[in-house]
Amino acid sequence: MITNKFRSLFLGITVIVTLGASYAFTSPDASGLQPTVSKLSLPVIQPAMTTPSVAIPQRKNFKILSHQIKAGESISSIFSALDVSRTDLHKIIHANKLGEQFASIAPGKTLQLSIDASGQLQQLTYHKNAIETLKAELIHNKFNVELISKPIETRIASTQAIINASLFLDGQAAGLSDKLIMQLADIFAWDIDFALSLRKGDMFTVVYEKIFVENKEIDSGNILSAEFINRGHTYTAVRFEDKDGTADYFTPEGKSMRKAFLRTPVDFARISSRFNLKRKHPVLNRIRAHKGVDYAARSGTPIKTTGDGKIIYRGRKGGYGRVVIVQHGQKYSSLYAHMSRYKKGQKVGSHVKQGQIIGYVGKSGLATGAHLHYEFRINGVHRNPLTVKLPAAKPIKKSLFSAFKKQTRVHLAHLNTLKIPPLIAQNYP
Ligand SMILES: [Zn+2]
Repeated sequence: MITNKFRSLFLGITVIVTLGASYAFTSPDASGLQPTVSKLSLPVIQPAMTTPSVAIPQRKNFKILSHQIKAGESISSIFSALDVSRTDLHKIIHANKLGEQFASIAPGKTLQLSIDASGQLQQLTYHKNAIETLKAELIHNKFNVELISKPIETRIASTQAIINASLFLDGQAAGLSDKLIMQLADIFAWDIDFALSLRKGDMFTVVYEKIFVENKEIDSGNILSAEFINRGHTYTAVRFEDKDGTADYFTPEGKSMRKAFLRTPVDFARISSRFNLKRKHPVLNRIRAHKGVDYAARSGTPIKTTGDGKIIYRGRKGGYGRVVIVQHGQKYSSLYAHMSRYKKGQKVGSHVKQGQIIGYVGKSGLATGAHLHYEFRINGVHRNPLTVKLPAAKPIKKSLFSAFKKQTRVHLAHLNTLKIPPLIAQNYP
C-alpha cells in the first residue's frame, strides 16, 4: 500500500517532471498534465489531392442555399422542398461513381446549393467530414462531381497521467480521447489486466499524433510510444510500421507487445468454472477433473481462436458437443467446446488468425447452460489457460531491425524526456 505521504511526494515530483517536459517542448500550456503539442514535433504535411476550392463563387445574381440535413431527410426530399430540379439531381447522382455519394447524405451535415438567376442549379456541395467535401458543378451542361480533400497535418503531442479513478477518467482528464484510451489499453492489454490489476498510483505517459485541418484539431492519430507503470512494473511500447503499412507495437528492444495467444477466447464473458483437477462435475455429479475454463456467455456470442493456427478438428465429440480444435505450431493446441454452431466457410485444415471467429457459444453436448469450455494444451498436456505462461508473438525480424531502430528512435527519445526518473520509479512499492 502507498502511504498518503508517499503519494503526495509522488504527485509533487510528477508535476515537476511534467513541467520540465513542458519547458523542454516549449509548450504553450504550462498547466502540466494537459496534453502539450510539441513545437519540436515533426509535422508531416501530406500533399493535398486537389487544390481546395470549396468556396462557392460569389457571382452576382447567384443564390446560395445552405441546408442542414435533418434526420429522415433524403437528398431528393430536400431538392423537392427547395424546389430545385430533380432531373439535375438524377444527373448528379449518375454523373460518375462519386455522384452516388450524394444519395447517402447524413443528418447534421450541410448541403450548399448555388442557383443562378434563371433557377438553374450551378453547384452542389456536401461537407462529408472535416476533411472532405463532395462537389458537383455544372460545366457545359454536364455535372462534374469531384471529391475535394483539405490538406491534413499531423502534429505530435504528449501527455501523462496518474491513475486515481480509472483509466478512462484519468485518461480523459489528461486530454486523451476515448479512442486513444482504447488504443492505449489495447497496446498494454497483454501485460496489464485493466479490469483487475490497475491500481491507484499507476501511471502512464503517451506520445501520440493529433490530426489538424486548417489549424483545427479534428481527430487523434496513432500512439507512437507509450509507457505504463502498473504496480511498480514499467512497460514501454513503441509503434513500428513496415513498408506495407502494417503497424504493430514492440518493446524498445524489438520484442512484440503481443503474446502468441489471447488469454480469453470470448469478450465480456464471466468465468463460470475454473481449471480444477478435482472438480465435481455439475451434470455427472461426480469428481471429474475440469481441464479447462468455462466462460458463461449468451448463446451465439462469437468465439475467437486464441492464436494463429490450423483447424485440426471440427465436429461433435461426446459430452463436448460441437468442438473445434486448433493446432498452433508443434507445441500448442486449443479446444473450444459446446458451440451452438461453427463459423461458416471453415473446415478441418483451414488456417486461422489470432482473434478470428471460429464458432459461437452454445450448450451442445453435456452442458447445463450456454457457455464456452476452453482448453489449452502444451505438448498434449492440459494447462490452466488463465495462468499458463504464454509465449510472446514474433519479435521484429532481424532484417527489419535497423529500420525499426531508425523509425522508433525519435518517439522513444520523446518519451524519455517525459519519463519519471528511474530512481522514483524504482522506489515505488
Ligand atoms: Zn468446462
